[in-house]
Amino acid sequence: MQAPGDAIVRITKTTICGTDLHILKGDVPTCEPGRILGHEGVGIVEEVGTAVGAFKPGDHVLISCITSCARCEYCRRGMYSHCTTGGWILGNTIDGTQAEYVRIPHADTSLYPIPQGADEEALVMLSDILPTGFECGVLNGKVQPGSTVAIVGAGPIGLAALLTAQFYSPAIIAMVDLDDNRLAVAKRFGATHAFKVDGSEVKRIMEITGGKGVDAAIEAVGVPATFELCQQIVAPGGVIANVGVHGVKADLHLERLWSHNISITTRLVDTVTTPMLLKTVQANRIDPKKLITHRFGLGQILDAYDTFSRAASTKALKVIVETDGEKARAAQTDGEARAAGRPGTTPADDWSYDLVTRTGLVLHVRPVNSQDEAPLAEFFRGVTPEDLRFRFLGGIREVSHDRLVAMTQVDHTSTENFLAFADGEKAIVATAMVACDPSLTMAEVAISVRADYKHKGVAWELLRHVARFAAAKGVEVLESIESRENHEAIELEREQGFVATAYEDDPTLVLIRKELHGS
Ligand SMILES: [Zn+2]
Ligand SMILES: [Zn+2]
Repeated sequence: MQAPGDAIVRITKTTICGTDLHILKGDVPTCEPGRILGHEGVGIVEEVGTAVGAFKPGDHVLISCITSCARCEYCRRGMYSHCTTGGWILGNTIDGTQAEYVRIPHADTSLYPIPQGADEEALVMLSDILPTGFECGVLNGKVQPGSTVAIVGAGPIGLAALLTAQFYSPAIIAMVDLDDNRLAVAKRFGATHAFKVDGSEVKRIMEITGGKGVDAAIEAVGVPATFELCQQIVAPGGVIANVGVHGVKADLHLERLWSHNISITTRLVDTVTTPMLLKTVQANRIDPKKLITHRFGLGQILDAYDTFSRAASTKALKVIVETDGEKARAAQTDGEARAAGRPGTTPADDWSYDLVTRTGLVLHVRPVNSQDEAPLAEFFRGVTPEDLRFRFLGGIREVSHDRLVAMTQVDHTSTENFLAFADGEKAIVATAMVACDPSLTMAEVAISVRADYKHKGVAWELLRHVARFAAAKGVEVLESIESRENHEAIELEREQGFVATAYEDDPTLVLIRKELHGS
């Protein structure tokens, strides 16, 4: 607490923004080394200053990336981003939200109450990216019913603009990006066209707009090439709405545009639309949760940064970093126990997680218990004969009672078996068994996926989950044996940093190995 208007908020969920990566690269000189990053998140008010009237301890709140005093000249014009004692300060000039607690100045006008029963994760998207895409892209771009829109850049901000542009029912929303996966996501999110940048994108946009170009060209990248592309595709009378954070100058082709009645807009998000966006999320008019691709605990924040910064290979959009409750505390206790030379003490039930695969499938994952034998037997009946043969190294049709007992009566310390359930389905759809050696330095993992749930990214998410579990126990090396034929599995393990080597005893197998670095 530094001022009577401050509140201390215990963060439950936060995320990483592209801007945080800019800071790490040194692009944001106002942010000094040692600063705690993060300007997005939700949490619970822990303490309030004497001047705070709108919130009290225990209140569930959404943190705006923009701090607003509500009194200065700019705030009174609705330009909170330029508040003389606020603006974008969180995770920039003051410590931010990628922490257990954060101090929020001007709390009354910089926090928003979260309605009861609201989905916290979806609301994390309202701290920054949804208002940014909407205010800087859609509102500034004057998107209207029947109008034509191109969004250049299908990252989280471009996709946020895509989601919120649909409030206005434009006739065309064309998404332009370099990445096939992001373009596929954009199509799922409602883009009418998705164009890969390959030299033909201007021609193709002209084709779909009758040679005119688009009424709104939304720039959501922040490099000269994309800003120049917007100048090539904007129709007479149209708007170039810049959203991207630019680090270098870009050319402005006034020799061509001077007579085209166009507008160019720039803006820092003010988050004035946050209350409105909250209502649209509450009413299920938009689902910003779709932007979340990965989840991590606060202890795995370096993994989270790694995944987020390698978005092209990890297919990351937004990553949720959970700091709440049992998981974080258990991981901490476990770390302390290990430091004291005792084995891990993480209670097994703390490892129940909801995971979302890259295809958007929600998996409820929990450790096995002794009542799971029958459902597990049923599960293995749905696994392909090839997978079954491989898993149990022999031609079996039915998994025996003894084997099922070994898979259900685990000690939850050196051995764990995670069961995955799909949303809305009672039966098990995948399992991940992990067995550590007694010293907890090495672990072996075996994943099985029911035939009808293959190729949905299930194994990939489960492997990540198991790697986190093993790392939290202090395991240094994670190994998996794969059939040489199973290219898909080997490929996904490579993506997660596993190295494949020949398996000495059997030429049809490969040994996949990853060194885990702390937790
Ligand atoms: Zn941001
Ligand atoms: Zn102000």
